[in-house]
Amino acid sequence: MACDKPISKHELKEHHQVIQRHVKHGFLTLQENQYVPNRDKIKSMLEDYSIRGIGKSIDIFLDGRKVGDRVLPIALEELHKDAIYFLAGTRYKVMEFNYPEKSYAKLQRIARDYPYFTKALTTEWPTIETVYEKRKAFGMEITFCKLHIQKTVYGYVNMELGQEVTQGKKVVLEKPLEYDFITKGIVFHAPRPMNEITKSEDEEYVEASGYHATEHVVIEGSNMITGGVSQDLGGISLGTSGLIFVYDGAIGGNGASKALYDRFERALERSMYIVKECPCTNESGCPRCTFSYRCGNNNEFLHKHSSLEVFQRIIDGEETEIEDPTEGDKPFV
Ligand SMILES: [Zn+2]
Ligand SMILES: [Zn+2]
Repeated sequence: MACDKPISKHELKEHHQVIQRHVKHGFLTLQENQYVPNRDKIKSMLEDYSIRGIGKSIDIFLDGRKVGDRVLPIALEELHKDAIYFLAGTRYKVMEFNYPEKSYAKLQRIARDYPYFTKALTTEWPTIETVYEKRKAFGMEITFCKLHIQKTVYGYVNMELGQEVTQGKKVVLEKPLEYDFITKGIVFHAPRPMNEITKSEDEEYVEASGYHATEHVVIEGSNMITGGVSQDLGGISLGTSGLIFVYDGAIGGNGASKALYDRFERALERSMYIVKECPCTNESGCPRCTFSYRCGNNNEFLHKHSSLEVFQRIIDGEETEIEDPTEGDKPFV
């Protein structure tokens, strides 16, 4: 942190112990009431940091020549074996993906009329590391936190080019790709859509699908608030728990989820409008309401009416509190 800007002696009281430890080890020195980094000493520490993920990327090769690179974790979704990769407006197929040992991908040209692109199938598990801020949005508790995300890319689907966001045929990877990282995000506990649950024969499906759709739509509804960087947001809905996480897709965080935290009521109103006003009559919804291009679950387990009830209850002020996630909840992303 001190590498970005010197820390004044009275700043960051909550990190006092960390700062003192760095001073003791010679990583920081006190000059004119400001802590400044000792660059030689911390070089090795920063190198450690990058080994653990920050700024790490995958080199991309075509015809034996490096043609680009892509940062993790998004690289895992875009460059796994057999992925169709877009580079400067042209599509290529990934022939070889070496990760985590060597971190490179080799591309091959494909026919211009090849009819598919690919979309990764993923699963993610979130852990709340530190709660920075907490408040109520309508009656619902929401926190802004430091999150640890464990991400696995286990397969992909082939999607037809030129179609709307929809579902494709699934292919499972021989070896799942794993990655974990620290970022920032919000957590909230959605109220239970009791009317839809009571009406249904498959209560768990309706409940989990309602929350999953809610997670998709909240990210969509936050676009106007985050200034169009919602494609950088990730989301996880934990089974039937009602716990929903929306986080910055960039390692360490990029401010989008904080903007969403600060103006969450607006995003919720906008989200309810998206679902309520969509004329589609499918149970699961459609690409204009509940489906998401970023979905790692092939846009399965989505329920439009259950999601609408969740938004209605939130805006009506139903009270909820955040609980700790339990292992049994299946995460939808
Ligand atoms: Zn729709
Ligand atoms: Zn999804």
